[in-house]
Amino acid sequence: MYAKIIVDVPSGGTDHPFDYHLPDALAQTASIGMRALVPFGQRKLTGFIVDIVRETNVEKVKNVAELLDITPVLNEELLALGTWMSRETICFQITAYQAMIPAAMRAKAVKKIAVVEAERSQLPMSVQALFGQAGEINWADLRSDARLLRDIRSAVEQRQITERYELKDQAKHRTAKAVTIPSDLKETPATKKQQETLALIADHYGETAAAIRTLMQELSLSRAVINTLVKNGFLQENEIIIDRNPYTSAEGDGDEEKATLTADQSRALAQIEGTMDQRKASPLLLHGVTGSGKTEIYLQAIDRVLQQGKEAIVLVPEISLTPQMVERFKRRFGANVAVLHSALSVGERFDEWKKIQEQRVQVAVGARSAVFAPFTNLGLIVIDEEHESTYKQEEHPRYHAREIAIWRSGRHRCPVLLGSATPSMESYARAAKGVYKLLSLPARINQQPLPVIDTVDMREEMREGNRSVFSVNLLEKLRDRIEKGEQAVLFLNRRGFSTFVMCRNCGYVGMCPHCEISLTFHRRDSQLKCHYCGHEERVYERCPSCESTHIRYFGTGTQRVEEELQQLLPEARIIRMDNDTTKRKGAHERLLKQFGNGDAEILLGTQMIAKGLDFPDITLVGVLAADTLLHLPDFRAQERTFQLLTQVSGRAGRAEKAGEVIIQSYTPEHYAIQHAQTHDYLSFFKKELGQRKQAGYPPYYFLTLITFAHATYATAMKAGTHAAKLLRERLGDTAVILGPTPSPIARIKDRYRCQCMIKYRDEPEITDVLHELFSYYQKELQRDQRFITIDRHPNMF
Ligand code: ADP
Ligand code: ZN
Ligand code: ZN
Repeated sequence: MYAKIIVDVPSGGTDHPFDYHLPDALAQTASIGMRALVPFGQRKLTGFIVDIVRETNVEKVKNVAELLDITPVLNEELLALGTWMSRETICFQITAYQAMIPAAMRAKAVKKIAVVEAERSQLPMSVQALFGQAGEINWADLRSDARLLRDIRSAVEQRQITERYELKDQAKHRTAKAVTIPSDLKETPATKKQQETLALIADHYGETAAAIRTLMQELSLSRAVINTLVKNGFLQENEIIIDRNPYTSAEGDGDEEKATLTADQSRALAQIEGTMDQRKASPLLLHGVTGSGKTEIYLQAIDRVLQQGKEAIVLVPEISLTPQMVERFKRRFGANVAVLHSALSVGERFDEWKKIQEQRVQVAVGARSAVFAPFTNLGLIVIDEEHESTYKQEEHPRYHAREIAIWRSGRHRCPVLLGSATPSMESYARAAKGVYKLLSLPARINQQPLPVIDTVDMREEMREGNRSVFSVNLLEKLRDRIEKGEQAVLFLNRRGFSTFVMCRNCGYVGMCPHCEISLTFHRRDSQLKCHYCGHEERVYERCPSCESTHIRYFGTGTQRVEEELQQLLPEARIIRMDNDTTKRKGAHERLLKQFGNGDAEILLGTQMIAKGLDFPDITLVGVLAADTLLHLPDFRAQERTFQLLTQVSGRAGRAEKAGEVIIQSYTPEHYAIQHAQTHDYLSFFKKELGQRKQAGYPPYYFLTLITFAHATYATAMKAGTHAAKLLRERLGDTAVILGPTPSPIARIKDRYRCQCMIKYRDEPEITDVLHELFSYYQKELQRDQRFITIDRHPNMF
């Protein structure tokens, strides 16, 4: 037997499977979708078995060295998805496969097999003998024993043993000494005290194993008492595996009642269920303001999925995936939920993934990569906050979770439910054309009013002599909240590196005459540059519009703002949340908890506080510089501004007390700010769509961004020039090729970067041409340390 294997060649290289011989011992257990270790040149590399055949025409075929898995990690669907992803996102197949499996499998982790305690007595004799009293053993010690391998595999398939990955730092939390009351325990002479203790344990734990430490804590038993019982055979000692997942502390027993739906909700749910019943793979866009009851609809739709014996995936932006969020699912579905979150340790994530793979759960809740959850009978995929840019992966494979979800839904013939208060331009345009079905929830549950939003014109503040980042109005309101014992959230956008130049007198921002994109200030050569087309001009000392000399370079840090605020309001207690204060694991949660407990009146933070905050005492939200986002050199800047302002405003007045929002801006007349102020998504959408059409951006045109990197600027540019020429020759008139131009971050890790952008509407050749370019530069790369990345449908930042 021979295996066709996609090998993980460092630095990519090829997409052909290689043939390897399967020695008899391995041939008995090898399956498609397993990983194997194979000789490759002088090294041994991992690869995925994509086919097993009887013949090969390769001479001198080498042997598969080892199988790395007991059961397949990728099923036939995911293997096919990888092939599709590699074609569509221009990456190697191996890159797609590696992205689908838990990181533990790629890390230098120790793989173990562990007894599922309840099944211990059912194990085949050979495996029972192997384990003895142990809870788990190293897989590496056994994987060459063919006979054992077969028994282990069948025990894994029967769910009698399971796989785990252990990384060094987690080892000590993994197992614990435990005791069980033996099932064959007869009436035995024991002291009265011992009998009482046994009864107590039986009461609380029945016949399941209980960790000794837990017994001591919960039942106030002494170690000595337990030891005596063990010594006399009344308790049996063994080792158990401790669940390491912090999200299990997000509790819920799954018996929460469903809410009685409002008429709008019922209508939306009926449409979703109708689509499920017709087994249609159609995307549905659920447009509803925050608090309109979208999540309740997800929960009830999933309920229907479970009744049909199927499975559901719920994608949530990483930052909204809080224990509270998970708790909501656990209250409804109990232990039937697995959580995939990058805040979990690598080992924990594997454990959750394994629950899905072994079909111990029917619901997976997680961030982007949960879209690869290895369910086999999907009934629904939900994408909450579908407009979020984090659904696009920014490294290879550069996939968008929405597109993967739609692909999978085609396989399973189930709907994809996209939910948002501010749908992406792409999705809403598709819904407007009837490609997606549009469902809407126009009002908040209980008719709670949306907060009143006010704008402050910072140009006027400046003219009246206020040079602070805080307007007089905002400061007054903050004082008022502190006096009343209410809370306020201050939001300061600080995205990236980009600096734009603005006139503080009239709000003028330099724009590229060709691109409708604000120019970025380059301090080094005092130039303003367009990162789309390369246009350059000298930075001005006087405003071209009003001749004022109050020119300012934007980019204000949260720390500086905190200091200023503390000076202005010495009595205020402030919590600052940004990348610096939330670096440590758990810090994010801890700070929010402090704020929730009322340890501070003001929460000051970056976009990480825009979502998920739900505190009843927040009655004021302030946005300090709405313009910083508006003027990013990104065609989505307006869209992101509108989304963010809407999102942030949703933090105010969530309970009985009415909320108020103040947006400070140098251009409060901008349509993104105006429509956010009136909560008018549709008007924003129409206006923005017009702009996009005029400037040639999505959803009217597709974009592909190609970036070249090299240690010298000249070489990177030369590669860009060469590629642009090739693209122009091959794509003809149907595509517009812009560049090469220096990238927004012109140098990363000592490599200069430049980019070309392709704009196109309908271009059947483009995928082939991009692959050609990719493999050409992949060869170059090995010779010359030149790098190419191709990003289809890029998030600009
Ligand atoms: P969204 O996901 O759109 O923000 P949620 O589903 O979280 O909205 O609903 C907002 C609040 O209203 C939640 O506290 C939820 O429990 C409650 N809720 C949702 N639907 C109903 C309903 N039909 N009846 C009563 N309360 C509801
Ligand atoms: Zn330009
Ligand atoms: Zn001006």
